Amino acid sequence: MEVDQAKIPQATAKRLPLYYRFLEGLQASGKHRVSSSELSEAVKVDSATIRRDFSYFGALGKKGYGYNVNYLLSFFRKTLDQDELTKVALVGVGNLGTAFLNYNFSKSNNTRIEMAFDVDRSKVDQTIGDVPIYHFDDMEEKLGDIEVVILTVPSMAAQGITDQLLESGIKGILNFTPARLTVPDNIRVHHIDLSVELQSLIYFLKHYPLN
Ligand code: ATP
Repeated sequence: MEVDQAKIPQATAKRLPLYYRFLEGLQASGKHRVSSSELSEAVKVDSATIRRDFSYFGALGKKGYGYNVNYLLSFFRKTLDQDELTKVALVGVGNLGTAFLNYNFSKSNNTRIEMAFDVDRSKVDQTIGDVPIYHFDDMEEKLGDIEVVILTVPSMAAQGITDQLLESGIKGILNFTPARLTVPDNIRVHHIDLSVELQSLIYFLKHYPLN
């Protein structure tokens, strides 16, 4: 079935990588079908939402059978461009940046950190986890067709770097700094502030205890 990407709601699109990762694990263990309640338990999304999400791409699921794992995976692979390698760059090779370079998403999908940038001369011209580190001044020349950047610099530096990244043609930024970035409407920023997330978890544990 051809799926009109424009019709998939953004909230659904955001959950697709989660589904994809779990289904890949199922396929690797030889499972051919999965029920929405099994999926729901594993990915912690309620089964009504899963059924609605899947209905957007024609996977209706059969009563007493569930969903066909291979069908779902082939759809997700196409939708998430998993057949294509997406190269990304990382800016800021501090503690967090170094951890990402070593991790490099190798086990989960077809995204790879291809290069990293820093202003600290003691960090450039070496590799971490096979990823070369260049000086930030050489970014424009080195980036090539990379359009996605992971930002792990001090928050004070974040906006200035972002402005330069946009000039170099970057379209998407995964922002791990606490800074709120100002960008034009055609640029996508996803913000992950680890300390805010942690504080929020602790707050919820304290004030909304689960039974
Ligand atoms: P470290 O202890 O290695 O400095 P950290 O995680 O505590 O690590 P931060 O101060 O958050 O470090 O800085 C993260 C990285 O961002 C550092 O490697 C720093 O050199 C780099 N950095 C700072 N300013 C810029 C900039 N303008 N452009 C690129 N990288 C930068």
